[in-house]
Amino acid sequence: MIKVNRIDKPKELTKEVQQQLTDEFKKDKNKNVWNKKYIRDQLILECNSKCVYCECFIGNGHKEMHIDHFHYKNKYKDEVVTWENLNPSCSTCNKNKSQHDTYETPIINPFEQEPKDYFYLKNYRYYSRNEKVDKIVHDTINVLGLNDTENIVKLRFEQGETLIDKINDIYELAEENKEILNNNISKKNRVMRGCKNILRKGIKEAEYSAFMATIIKNDENYIKLKQLLIRLKIWNEELQSLDEQVEKIKMQIYPDRLY
Ligand SMILES: [Zn+2]
Repeated sequence: MIKVNRIDKPKELTKEVQQQLTDEFKKDKNKNVWNKKYIRDQLILECNSKCVYCECFIGNGHKEMHIDHFHYKNKYKDEVVTWENLNPSCSTCNKNKSQHDTYETPIINPFEQEPKDYFYLKNYRYYSRNEKVDKIVHDTINVLGLNDTENIVKLRFEQGETLIDKINDIYELAEENKEILNNNISKKNRVMRGCKNILRKGIKEAEYSAFMATIIKNDENYIKLKQLLIRLKIWNEELQSLDEQVEKIKMQIYPDRLY
């Protein structure tokens, strides 16, 4: 889970339209009044085609996007098409959250809170950073099933381990060829492309970016690769910019009291 920013609501969703759709829903709660193309299109842009809770890819040929009402719609009917209440998610997170009452038992809303202030990551799982946030972190993990082994931990594990292999390969390629890298365009390009592809796995548009960014930034081989490329003067602005984006997303790997 990473911080997501709200973008403007679709221009079609005027106050009048919002009122009209809300009235329709109050008359017939089986009517999916929020399920409009203009709403879906704007939401998919807003979330970079990722579930705002578990960060799996949705829409654009991936799993179907569901529109989660952060405040449960059958109880909080007035918020059924309130733009700030519509969270793009995957079907699993939407179903897990189902009728959970987020007013009575709050969970982290990635549009409102910065998830890295709450979680630390270990073994492809989320944990609470400190006692002060224990309650909301545990409620969030349990309601959304964020540490469900079959549904999600295994998927993060597969992607994470593939990434670690890739970092190792590119570091070895660079290290073995460090004397000639500046004179061998083909090898130099392979290293730079490889490094770029690694970093692209940890930016906000990437699947499971909280985990991938944290892996990259704590991987010894990545740290050595970066140092080597800087020393060889082939670390460029593009790599620097990607590296900074990944740095912003990474989470802690220990609880607060161990720091
Ligand atoms: Zn999800």
